[in-house]
Amino acid sequence: MSTTQQLCAPYDLIVIGSGPAGRRAAIQAAKLGHKVLVVERGRRVGGVSVHTGTIPSKTLRETVLNLSGWRERGFYGRAYRAKADITAADLRKRLAITLDHEVEVLEHQFARNNVETLRGEASFVDPNIISVACDDGETAICTADRFIIAVGTKPYRPAHIFFDGKSILDSDEILDISRIPRQLVVIGASVIGVEYASIFSALDVKVTLLEPSAGLLPFVDRELADEFMHDLRDRGVNLRFGCKVVAAAVDGPEACLLDLEDGRELRADMVLTSDERGRLTVDKTTFQTAVEHIYAVGDIIGFPSLASTSMEQGRIAACHAFGEPAHAPPEFFPYGIYSVPEISTIGMTEEQVRERAIPYECGVARFRETSRGQIMGLSSGFLKMIFSLETRRLLGVHIVGEGATELIHIGQAVLNLEGTLDYFVENTFNYPTLAEAYKVSALDAWNRMPKQQPSAARAVKVIEQARRAVG
Ligand SMILES: Cc1cc2nc3c(=O)[nH]c(=O)nc-3n(C[C@H](O)[C@H](O)[C@H](O)COP(=O)(O)OP(=O)(O)OC[C@H]3O[C@@H](n4cnc5c(N)ncnc54)[C@H](O)[C@@H]3O)c2cc1C
Repeated sequence: MSTTQQLCAPYDLIVIGSGPAGRRAAIQAAKLGHKVLVVERGRRVGGVSVHTGTIPSKTLRETVLNLSGWRERGFYGRAYRAKADITAADLRKRLAITLDHEVEVLEHQFARNNVETLRGEASFVDPNIISVACDDGETAICTADRFIIAVGTKPYRPAHIFFDGKSILDSDEILDISRIPRQLVVIGASVIGVEYASIFSALDVKVTLLEPSAGLLPFVDRELADEFMHDLRDRGVNLRFGCKVVAAAVDGPEACLLDLEDGRELRADMVLTSDERGRLTVDKTTFQTAVEHIYAVGDIIGFPSLASTSMEQGRIAACHAFGEPAHAPPEFFPYGIYSVPEISTIGMTEEQVRERAIPYECGVARFRETSRGQIMGLSSGFLKMIFSLETRRLLGVHIVGEGATELIHIGQAVLNLEGTLDYFVENTFNYPTLAEAYKVSALDAWNRMPKQQPSAARAVKVIEQARRAVG
């Protein structure tokens, strides 16, 4: 193998990794007029988000919902199928088309903004120099004044799980399956675990979800989590909490054996592990590491490990690196879980409001109470809002059901603009829509809130604003 070294021209910024965090950082810096290089070791740009994470899992979900006829089952019954005999090839077909398109859009974005790219594995030689091991055996030496590390993470593969890439898989490998399992065991009720468990259950695969702790999705409002678990159980998903796997191995053709800590055994023809990934420490406002011209953003710095938040971190880091003002994102950001059904949440949960001893009232609207929900044949799903009794301000929005990840943005706007219950009561919503659930939920809370004329509510708001203005 050749060991030729090539010296690149110096850059203002080198970004390592082309996932959502790196891509957004690079484009932001280029838009500010700087010379930027993105180094990516993968075969194509895009990162986990495009190749094994966000986009493929959401494409798989959409394909499953379409082919299985899931959205029509409310009307035509559980046996309804849009396509009989769904195969793994059916699932992969749409995936390939979507991913190609995503990569093309990204390459075009880089080209349009004059962001240079280099394919290879980067490692630091000193704080201003990286060496990039390229596929052709050459090494490129690149220098820059600033660096942004956006290398993401890989699935954790515990030693007691004997992965074979066919029957015992991590979340990167599940996208390449050549058959649809009959029984799937998902180890770990993380967001990824819950998403895949519910997606495969929509394909009528018999799913068991094992979680060592006492419940799932601890950051989600409990009323929502309870509804979600009820929905899964109703569909036959076996939820086993407080259940730790001590070994999992292939035990014959298309057969896996799992040993549980309590001495029991479990059999399935496919096992998927899911985990939380993580960690490099940074200043959480500027995203600088201990070395001030080296920033780190995205999954590598841990929670919330979302494509959406990673992009914002990339933008803020790039602006900070070049002394450009960048507003910190508002305190509240939406969390979307693309399970079946979807969950989305923003702001405080009812448990958090109670912990902080804030006097509050909740309003709940079931989707089946809306005309749109009836038209769509929705039998489950609800929207819950939490309001302060003292200020009438919206404190949190929690949605489970069809369209939750889109609907949440109405709540996000009102929450971050410090709106009150009266916004929802006084405004007109398109009809028939699921968004109407906001109004129904607000009216539900209004029934139990201390009565106040809208004009009085506005007066409270003006007084609050005046108070803030004088500090
Ligand atoms: C199954 C799954 C589903 C998900 N669903 C969602 C969702 O619905 N919504 C959401 O917001 N988020 C979702 N996420 C999370 C989201 O994908 C990640 O938060 C996001 O991809 C993180 O972006 P990143 O830029 O930090 O890293 P990544 O996307 O991981 O990109 C890092 C890149 O760096 C490259 N790299 C690593 N080391 C080097 C090196 N030394 N030299 C050069 N290149 C290197 C890698 O090859 C990779 O391309 C999901 C994740 C998974 C796994």
